Amino acid sequence: MSEFLPTGIQLTYLVAASLFIVGLKKLGSPASARQGNFLAAVGMLLAVVATLLDRQVLSYEMILVGLAVGSLIGAIAAQKVAMTAMPQMVGLLNGLGGAASALVAVAEFWRLMGTSQAIPLDANISMLLDVFIGGVTFTGSMIAFAKLQGLISGSPVTFPLQQPINALLLVGFVVGSGYLLVAPENLPIFLAVVGVSLLLGVLFVLPIGGGDMPVVISLLNSLSGLAASAAGFVVMNNMLIIAGALVGASGLILTQIMCKAMNRSLVSVLFGSFGKAGVSGGGGTEDKTVHSIDPEEGAMMLGYARSVVIVPGYGMAVAQAQHSVRELADQLEKMGVDVKYAIHPVAGRMPGHMNVLLAEANVPYPQLHDMEDINPQFEQTDVALVIGANDVVNPAARSDAASPIYGMPILEVDRAKHTIVIKRGMSTGFAGVDNDLFYKDKTMMLFGSAKDVVGKLVSEVKQL
Ligand code: NDP
Repeated sequence: MSEFLPTGIQLTYLVAASLFIVGLKKLGSPASARQGNFLAAVGMLLAVVATLLDRQVLSYEMILVGLAVGSLIGAIAAQKVAMTAMPQMVGLLNGLGGAASALVAVAEFWRLMGTSQAIPLDANISMLLDVFIGGVTFTGSMIAFAKLQGLISGSPVTFPLQQPINALLLVGFVVGSGYLLVAPENLPIFLAVVGVSLLLGVLFVLPIGGGDMPVVISLLNSLSGLAASAAGFVVMNNMLIIAGALVGASGLILTQIMCKAMNRSLVSVLFGSFGKAGVSGGGGTEDKTVHSIDPEEGAMMLGYARSVVIVPGYGMAVAQAQHSVRELADQLEKMGVDVKYAIHPVAGRMPGHMNVLLAEANVPYPQLHDMEDINPQFEQTDVALVIGANDVVNPAARSDAASPIYGMPILEVDRAKHTIVIKRGMSTGFAGVDNDLFYKDKTMMLFGSAKDVVGKLVSEVKQL
């Protein structure tokens, strides 16, 4: 039995890895995403059980204590954290993943220091990579968390000689690592290398502005996977290497998709200090007027339209208005109106935010259209109904080179025959820039919280 165990564990790892890959593939489409998530979870369960059966496990008591404490915190967090605070939550989880991986390397270094044998070169390289990637991921994610949570300013934090200082720290890491490769048993240098990695994480995320946070979170997610993979090399665990590599690769693909969605290169995200919060764009808006309507007028416009495109944004998520929105769409369809949903890739506060909410309200997938698909259709659309979206429909991104969001592709609702915007007041969105859309002649503002207003629209439309 004990002879068989290692082979059995490796085989179980193989099955788990295959489930991860199939699960990831299925996550590519909303229709199969739930099944993909389930398969990947089964894979993770198999991986955890196989690892617990490994003969190298020294103390089950400590594992059980960790499991109990972690599960408790996780269960409470899952209940308490609002959907709108998900990006911070993901940032925190990425950071903890990075910290756990880096701690594996620190613990292994400690263990090897205590033995009489020399630290092997391959173990040394893995530990240094793990400490670097894990350390940067940990502190970088904590800064991203603090920015998104509003604990520190979301604006880019810059200071003189920032890039040279970063470069110097990077050189310091490389020199320290080189020294450790030649003379591994040097605790102060090892700790210095850990410290530099932690500092680099802070300095790497501080200058990145709020507007670029989606990309940064996704990049840090990828880094947490790479850190886990490096930790897998440190403890020679195939499952950890594979799972980490999968997270790393899929995170990088997501980062690439987000960059494309915001029309930004990764280099400019990391070194461009973009997305200053609190900046005004689109020129002075003080003397401009808006056309405000009430739900009754809004219902008339919607009910007598031939085509309506619904554009959900962060405000719909805050108000949890997705069920009322679905009800409105159903009602309009009953009256013969052609209803579609336009989904911007960075609408809301996390990748796929709108898809998740609308799926929760059982909106049929074929009604969801992505940006490339729907933009050419706006000119023939009678009413674009913007529900709590702001940045993703801001025409300044297209026309105002001075705007901080210039270049980000938007949903071109201003090309529709009429636009109705539901929001509570004239506040800016995440990027902190004014939106000229609200002042256009064709735009009607329907003020109020999304759930209330859409609820009123439903009752008014029913009376038409
Ligand atoms: P925005 O954040 O630009 O705007 C949301 C708007 O919703 C606000 O202007 C606000 O105006 C309104 N609002 C808030 N609460 C309510 C409510 N209860 N009812 C009605 N309206 C409400 O949202 P978008 O979705 O347009 O854009 C997303 C932004 O977030 C982008 O800048 C994106 O880069 C960024 N981001 C995206 C992430 C992602 O992965 N998707 C992650 C992190 C950031 P008012 O207060 O006047 O009601």
